[in-house]
Amino acid sequence: MIYETTVIGYPYIGEQRQWKKTVESFWKGMIDEQTLHAQLKEQRLENVKRQYALGVETITTGDFTYYDRMLDLATAFNLIPKRYAEVEKGISTYYAMARGTKDVVASEMTKWFNTNYHYIVPEYEGQRLRLQSHRYIEYIDEALQLGVTPKPTFIGPYTFFTLTKGIQKEQEAAFLLDLIHVYTELLQQVAQTGVTWIQLEEPAFTTTLNDEQQQLIQALYTQICEQVDTKIFVTTYFEACSAYDVISQLPIDGLGLDFVHGKKENIENLRKHGFPEEKVLGVGIVNGRDIWAANLAQCVTDVRAIEQLVQPTHVWLQTSCSLQHVPVSAMHETKLPQFLQPSLAFADEKIRELVAIRQTLDGTEQTTNILAESLQQQQVLLGHKSRHNEHVAEALRTLQPAHYTRDIPFEKRQALQIEALQLPDFPTTTIGSFPQSTAVKQNRAKWRKQAISNSEYEAFIEEEMKRWITIQEEIGLDVLVHGEFERTDMVEFFGEKLDGFAFTQNGWVVSYGSRCVKPPIIYGDVAWVSPMTVNEIKYAQQYTQKHVKGMLTGPVTILNWSFVRDDIPREVVAQQIALALRKEIASLEDANVQIIQVDEPALREGLPLRKEQHADYLRWSVDAFKLATSGVAATTQIHTHMCYCEFNDFLAPITALDADVISLETSRSHGELIDVLATDAYPYGIGLGVYDIHSPRVPSVEEMLTIATDSLHVIPRQNFWVNPDCGLKTRGEQETIAALSHMVEVAQQLRQRV
Ligand code: GLN
Ligand code: ZN
Repeated sequence: MIYETTVIGYPYIGEQRQWKKTVESFWKGMIDEQTLHAQLKEQRLENVKRQYALGVETITTGDFTYYDRMLDLATAFNLIPKRYAEVEKGISTYYAMARGTKDVVASEMTKWFNTNYHYIVPEYEGQRLRLQSHRYIEYIDEALQLGVTPKPTFIGPYTFFTLTKGIQKEQEAAFLLDLIHVYTELLQQVAQTGVTWIQLEEPAFTTTLNDEQQQLIQALYTQICEQVDTKIFVTTYFEACSAYDVISQLPIDGLGLDFVHGKKENIENLRKHGFPEEKVLGVGIVNGRDIWAANLAQCVTDVRAIEQLVQPTHVWLQTSCSLQHVPVSAMHETKLPQFLQPSLAFADEKIRELVAIRQTLDGTEQTTNILAESLQQQQVLLGHKSRHNEHVAEALRTLQPAHYTRDIPFEKRQALQIEALQLPDFPTTTIGSFPQSTAVKQNRAKWRKQAISNSEYEAFIEEEMKRWITIQEEIGLDVLVHGEFERTDMVEFFGEKLDGFAFTQNGWVVSYGSRCVKPPIIYGDVAWVSPMTVNEIKYAQQYTQKHVKGMLTGPVTILNWSFVRDDIPREVVAQQIALALRKEIASLEDANVQIIQVDEPALREGLPLRKEQHADYLRWSVDAFKLATSGVAATTQIHTHMCYCEFNDFLAPITALDADVISLETSRSHGELIDVLATDAYPYGIGLGVYDIHSPRVPSVEEMLTIATDSLHVIPRQNFWVNPDCGLKTRGEQETIAALSHMVEVAQQLRQRV
């Protein structure tokens, strides 16, 4: 048996987020294009060297990007929508598609399978696909020059096809022919560099595949592989490989399976259908999506069991998916609880684990001690007192159905709320955050470094809240927010104040583009300690007669955006968070806050990839939201907010939340929701985002008015809210004020019209 260690992909952001700094400097015009290329190259090579030093034999290239890997392929294939025709070719077009410019909107962005990463959606407008210039060869050449063996990777043709939007049924055949052509040409070019292997990532193979889709996959691969003179390794991830009998027989040279998230089913498939003798089996054995150290002995046992089943001749030991979903290295985390540190494994540590597993399997190194330590660490964590909080256990035991429902049904609540809140028709509001300016960030950085005192830090935030209350009053918004200046992201702020969370100093992962998040680690039982948000809301409220919304992140989003302990079901962790938020909501009510927004942008994100598992996830996640929010008075208005959602198939769960008002991202997904709203009455208050906050562009009144009027006939007047797509924290102050002023003008026009 021959074993090899490999990874599907390595994080490109760099240990200190160098990548982010470089691309953002370029956007700001601080460095020129040449410097951008030079700096990114240096970072890329550094990543290659690191992996090599850690013991990876074949190094993946093409896991690097200038923004997003789907966008890389789309531009390489000339899938550039017409609206960018005026933009200068090359890097300007690339970034215009990613981020929009002042003249042209960005491409749609949506989440990558069931992760918290968002990719740019390729748009087809009937244009011919042509292979354009691209960087893939350069990535390979530079790795070769370093003396390592590169394994170029690409998102595979089937996944690319399923994620491309705008292909009409009658265009499908033409598109696919073109797609085969450009993939073949690309892979042939790559083959000429002399590489032995090319990796194609096909996460879409783990979604449910019907007969037609299976035939398409066969057709795509038969034609592409026939014409490419290199070994092709297809890797699946995030779930078990669907239609395994078909996929394992594709004319490819290796197949990677996820034995972490799809373990049971993948093993079952191997048992049933075997594994083709001549192919390499990729065994995704180390979890690429969490930050927990693996139980190495267990991994070794699992690989041996797999081998016994199918006796492959060649095994690639790999992570379950790309390491892009975990931070770079846990080495420099010095502030974590001591018992936790050795339980963590980020990208580099995971590579070490893979190497240790390989060494154990092929007997090249003595690993007994490493395995024993790994086991002991597992036990320390399992038995730790933070995981056995009696109060939390008691609260969970005594939950009743009444905890999950509001006392009065929505129709009655709505009348009471209209009376109590005294809002105009078409009320305007924002989603919560205002620009996190350099000053806001500097204030926080200084405070973190203890360069300023707590009171200096707070005084600055108070000033900023007060200033923005005035700005909001001047703009004429109806329901105000405090601006979230005290928060870095939506989860960290809460986690820092709740029991059971730990924070890394440098545990960044990309959420989209250059936006990185630092997910907290939920390692113990979650419990509320004291009010988390009341002071800021109360402070902001004293400067206005208008309502200031309470602003919380919902239980499912906190869960989905954290690295979560894996010793109890996620459902139970969600309940624990919900109970903590329920207490926070009660404190807000005690402070006379009458409108409370509980954001759940990640509700949809947590949907399992397989349809048959959706109902169960939705049951417990909707329950968690209701557990958090249904203890309030009838006159307290609960808002929720979600973004990046394709709601066509999601109306039932959002209705089930029983939230009085929902705000949604819709301006980028071009109002697909409207048809759904027209057919299926959604009884609650609803604000469809009237402008895209991901772009610095200030939309005109007319543009927003068009978006708003599109939905006028499907949303009853008393339910209609006017708001942007999402929070404004990444925007500049001037553009924010300008856009919101236009938005308020839209509401005024609507009021006059009807
Ligand atoms: N309240 C958050 C904000 O405004 C919501 C962000 C989000 O939905 N992602 O920033
Ligand atoms: Zn949002």
